[in-house]
Amino acid sequence: MSNQFEVIIIGGGIAGLQAAIQLGRYKHKIGVIDSNDGRSTICRCYHNILGWPDGVSGQTLRELGKQHAERYGVSFIQNEVIKVEKAEIRFTLYCRGGDTFTAKRLLLATGVKDNIPAIKNIYKCLGLTIYVCPDCDGYEVVDKHVIVIGSSMPGANMALTLSYFTKNITLINHDWKQLDSETMEKLKQKGITYIQDDVEEVLLREDSEDFKGVRLKTGEIIDGDRGFLGFGGNEVRSELATQLGIERTENKHIIVDPRTKRTNVEHVWAAGDIAVHSEQTTIAMGDGMQAAIWIHKSLLDEK
Ligand SMILES: Cc1cc2nc3c(=O)[nH]c(=O)nc-3n(C[C@H](O)[C@H](O)[C@H](O)COP(=O)(O)OP(=O)(O)OC[C@H]3O[C@@H](n4cnc5c(N)ncnc54)[C@H](O)[C@@H]3O)c2cc1C
Repeated sequence: MSNQFEVIIIGGGIAGLQAAIQLGRYKHKIGVIDSNDGRSTICRCYHNILGWPDGVSGQTLRELGKQHAERYGVSFIQNEVIKVEKAEIRFTLYCRGGDTFTAKRLLLATGVKDNIPAIKNIYKCLGLTIYVCPDCDGYEVVDKHVIVIGSSMPGANMALTLSYFTKNITLINHDWKQLDSETMEKLKQKGITYIQDDVEEVLLREDSEDFKGVRLKTGEIIDGDRGFLGFGGNEVRSELATQLGIERTENKHIIVDPRTKRTNVEHVWAAGDIAVHSEQTTIAMGDGMQAAIWIHKSLLDEK
């Protein structure tokens, strides 16, 4: 495989794949470099996507997207880009292990990495019976007993947000950082049960990924129907953008033009969770599509 592309997409998650499909259909020479450790890799079910009323896993969308893009000749490289440089006409990308690639246009679609604690069985349930985002999955806990596993304020805020969907909430503050009295009072008013302890293990119904509660470090078992995480501190993966001098917000999301998804650096676009502020699968698809259209226009202008 040649190492020279017209466009390189860094990140082959939802935004990157949608852009790859569209750019492939414009017959450009496209490379996707992906490290396969993003949110769409770990989410085992999305519930709010048009066309998938019974849900679909991130893995399924990724496999279908890759196969679809490959029909148009898009090349996939499994690796992590660790450095990027801009020269007169082309960008050079340096990957782990020493491989390098060049491209005239770049799309950054590197997403966000969730701060998920190392608790036994947690990954088995992500998106199925343990959730991270109330906009995505608040509906999944309607009138159920939900156990929020969190750290101090992010955990408390998650529990308070979920009180719109259910009255039956237990908040386990896994962090040992005390909550202030005002927050404790708000939890009390919403009838939220508060426990301060470490969670040792997520408990599953036999032979399934069905959450049935947690075991605390003290050995106590708390039964529940669903889990929610509230740890905050997700990593916005925009380090490569800083190497190119791309403008970011205070919380490290990349600032893009809303119409074109272009960044402030010529010939670089950004799409999906990495951009301001769209942490939803369908929005990532839309972003990827929009970026692809404008990348194509810019390549045509050049020709
Ligand atoms: C548990 C969970 C449940 C969720 N549920 C829902 C839901 O129900 N509905 C919904 O709409 N959304 C949901 N989301 C959010 C959804 O997964 C994201 O909005 C979506 O994945 C964003 O797509 P993206 O392409 O921006 O990022 P991702 O899908 O995370 O893809 C980014 C890709 O970039 C790669 N990458 C990162 N850095 C580099 C690098 N330097 N070099 C090469 N590759 C790199 C990663 O490996 C990854 O494959 C959920 C997320 C989680 C974690």
